[in-house]
Amino acid sequence: MTLPYPLLWLLTSAFRFFPWPAKPGLQAVGQPGTDSPVFLTGNFALTVARLKRALRGLDGWLLVANSRGINVWCAAAGGHLTTHDAISALKTSGIAKRVAHRRVILPQLAATGIEAGQVRARTGWKVIWGPVDGRDLPAFLQGEETPAMRQVRFDPQQRLEMAVMWAAPLSLLAPITLIFWPGRLLPLVALIWALSLAVYLAFPLYEPLVARKSLAGFVVLFGGLTLAGIALTGTLTGRLTLPFILRWGGLGLGMALLLAFDLAGSTPLYKSWTHAERSHRVTLEPEHCTACGRCAQVCPRGVFTVAEIAALPHADRCEQCGACIVQCPTDALLFEAPDGERVPPETMRRYKLNMMGQRGRKL
Ligand code: SF4
Ligand code: SF4
Repeated sequence: MTLPYPLLWLLTSAFRFFPWPAKPGLQAVGQPGTDSPVFLTGNFALTVARLKRALRGLDGWLLVANSRGINVWCAAAGGHLTTHDAISALKTSGIAKRVAHRRVILPQLAATGIEAGQVRARTGWKVIWGPVDGRDLPAFLQGEETPAMRQVRFDPQQRLEMAVMWAAPLSLLAPITLIFWPGRLLPLVALIWALSLAVYLAFPLYEPLVARKSLAGFVVLFGGLTLAGIALTGTLTGRLTLPFILRWGGLGLGMALLLAFDLAGSTPLYKSWTHAERSHRVTLEPEHCTACGRCAQVCPRGVFTVAEIAALPHADRCEQCGACIVQCPTDALLFEAPDGERVPPETMRRYKLNMMGQRGRKL
């Protein structure tokens, strides 16, 4: 059954903690022919629906690989959308008989998990890294390729999804509190939604705090505003008593802390300070660089420029996703720990290790 897009968006946002698989396999978009482009993506239902919307009016082949119902970036970083999955989709879907070329466009954020070189060597298909956001695909197909297309944006829609992702399941758990405080369900649900929406939608206002990695400042800001809001509500309703402050202040602070840690660990814009491994930095071995430009093509944070060789003028933006290291054909890039210890590129590839909270398998 195909759900209407708004309902699918709501359900996949509200239950983002769970996989939401679409059927893997080959689909025709429009009236594709033998020269039409081939797009490969993961089988998170919302991703597939979004891609079809982005490709409206175009003709192409949509190849849905099995990412276990998880979105492309999380699946690729977590070892659920791999080189094997891409190869398997290309070999078993029948796409080779439908087109006369061997070029497949992959979402750039799959570059952490899918090795373009391996795909080519084992299938003959050349991987072309498409833009981060599928909505840029029509322009990309026209030959447009801007730095903005290659970078992750934490736009209002994504922030709204994050707010819903927290508020919906917490609202479902809220009735548990009826055991202790009968009749307080609606105010509690209102607090959950108000806090979630305020924290994520106001992100640009406190972004400098995140950039400075000031977790303490972050918690003080959220906690302070939460307590101020609760004090104001108590005053306006004439209920400002010590039990009121303790109850709602405690609940509000707990939730503010939860959201602060989530932002600290998972915004697409800033690396987490909750994992020591994230102090690793990408290092270039200049003598191995051939200036092929693949690192700049797959980096979602705009870290690289490539002229005679690659350079990392914006290394401070690095998310430690590992995509550049996985895709570099000459092993000119690797992770280096603060004590100088280096993680060989082959280790990254073999263990699907990255430093995004060690989502890949550990060494
Ligand atoms: S991918 Fe590797 S070889 Fe190519 S430009 Fe980047 S560092 Fe150099
Ligand atoms: S420089 Fe950092 S953010 Fe960019 S691809 Fe490499 S590991 Fe990922």
